[in-house]
Amino acid sequence: MAQKADLFPHDSSLERLPVAQRDKKMSRKLQRLIAHAYGKAPGFKLRMDAAGIKPGDIKALADLQRIPVLRKDDLIKLQKELPPFGGYLAVPLDEIDHIYQSPGPIYDPQRRLKQGTLPPDMGKGQIAVNTWSYHITPAGMLMDRLLRAMGFTVFPAGTGNTDLLVQIMRDLKVSYFVGTPSFLAAIIKRAEEMGYDIQKDFSLKYAQVFGEMGGDPLRKMFSEKYGITCVGGDNYLTADIGPIAGSCEKGAGMHVNTDVIVEIVDPSTGRELPAGEVGEVVVTPFDEVYPLIRFGTGDLSMLVTETCACGRTTPRLPKIMGRSGDAVRVRAMFVHPRQTDEVISKFGEIARYRILVTRPADRDEMLLQVELKSGPADRDAWEESLRKEFQNTCKVRFDALEVLPADSIPGGEKTIVDRRVY
Ligand SMILES: [Zn+2]
Repeated sequence: MAQKADLFPHDSSLERLPVAQRDKKMSRKLQRLIAHAYGKAPGFKLRMDAAGIKPGDIKALADLQRIPVLRKDDLIKLQKELPPFGGYLAVPLDEIDHIYQSPGPIYDPQRRLKQGTLPPDMGKGQIAVNTWSYHITPAGMLMDRLLRAMGFTVFPAGTGNTDLLVQIMRDLKVSYFVGTPSFLAAIIKRAEEMGYDIQKDFSLKYAQVFGEMGGDPLRKMFSEKYGITCVGGDNYLTADIGPIAGSCEKGAGMHVNTDVIVEIVDPSTGRELPAGEVGEVVVTPFDEVYPLIRFGTGDLSMLVTETCACGRTTPRLPKIMGRSGDAVRVRAMFVHPRQTDEVISKFGEIARYRILVTRPADRDEMLLQVELKSGPADRDAWEESLRKEFQNTCKVRFDALEVLPADSIPGGEKTIVDRRVY
C-alpha cells in the first residue's frame, strides 16, 4: 500500500527549541490539524458544531481547551452512531492497513508510522522476540513494524507459555526482548529454575520492556544482575493514541512526544491545569488519519515544564499516577467494569462479584471474588469456563478466584478495586 505523504511530518528539532518558539510552531500545526479534521472527520465537526466552536477560534495551544474532551465513552457512543470509527477517520479506508479493537469496544484504524521516528539499524542478523504479538493491540503490531524496520528477524510470541519461551529464546539465541517488565522477570526466574545461567546460556542483550507502571526496579535488576540493556524505559502509549511520551535517558521522567499535544486537565471540567498539578492526561495527536482531538486517556499525571538535564525543552510526565475513571490497567491491559459485567452476566450462578487488583511483588495481580446464588454442579469445569470467558473478554487472566459467603462484598464500592501501591 502506497504511503501517502505526512500532513504533519515528525520534526525532531522541536524537542530542543526554546519553549516559545516551539509553541508557535505547534500552534500553527494545531490550526492545520483542526482545519483538516473539521473538513474530513464528520464526527469531529459534529462535536465542534455542538459546542459552538469554529475552526478559526483555535489559534493557539491555549485555545485547545475550548474543545470538549473526547472521552472513551463518547467515542464508544459515537462509533455506534457513525460506525465504524465514529466519524473520526479522516482519510479514505484504503489508506489504512489495520484496524484494532480496544476495550469498549472501540475500533481504531492504524495510524501512520511517522517518517524519521525509526531507531537506527541495530538488528541485522539478530533475532528479537516480541511477546506482544498475540495481544491484538496496536502495541504488538507497532513493535513488529519497528523491529523489522530496525533489521531484526522477529519471533512473534505471546505471554502464555513461559517454559516454551525459555526454550525458544535459548535455541534461537534471541538478543532482543519486547514485552512487559514482569513477564521478562518471570522468564528469567523460570530459566534459572530450569538450571540455566542467563548470561552464559542466553544471548539476551537488550530488553524493550514497558506497558506497566513501576517497571524501573525491574529494569535496574535486568541491567545490574544480568547485563541486559533496557531500551526506551517507561514509554507511555495507549491503544487509541499510540506513543505519547518516552523516558528520558537522564531518568527525569517521560518526555512528551512532539507528534502529540498533552494537556493535564481537571477531569470534571476538561479545563487545563497549571504545570505541577495532578489531573487527567488529555492528548491531541498530530494525526491526519484518525485525529482524536483532545482524547481523554483517563490516566492521571502531571506536567513538569523545567528544561531537562538532557537538553530537551519538551514537558515531562514524571509517571502515570493511576486512573481517573473506572477502567483499571492490569499487566498492560485496561480492564473496564463493562467488560467484567459482560463476563459475569454469562454465569447465572454468580450473585455478586468484585475484583481486587494488587501488586505484591512487582507484578499486578487480580483476585476475582464472587458470591454464589447456587453452587455449580461441576465446580472445576465451571471455574475453567469462567477463566476462559474472562480471558477472552478482558484479554488478561485473573490470578485467583475466591468464593465468599453471601453479603461479604461491600455494597456501593467500585467493581474493580485498585489497591496497588507504587
Ligand atoms: Zn530529559
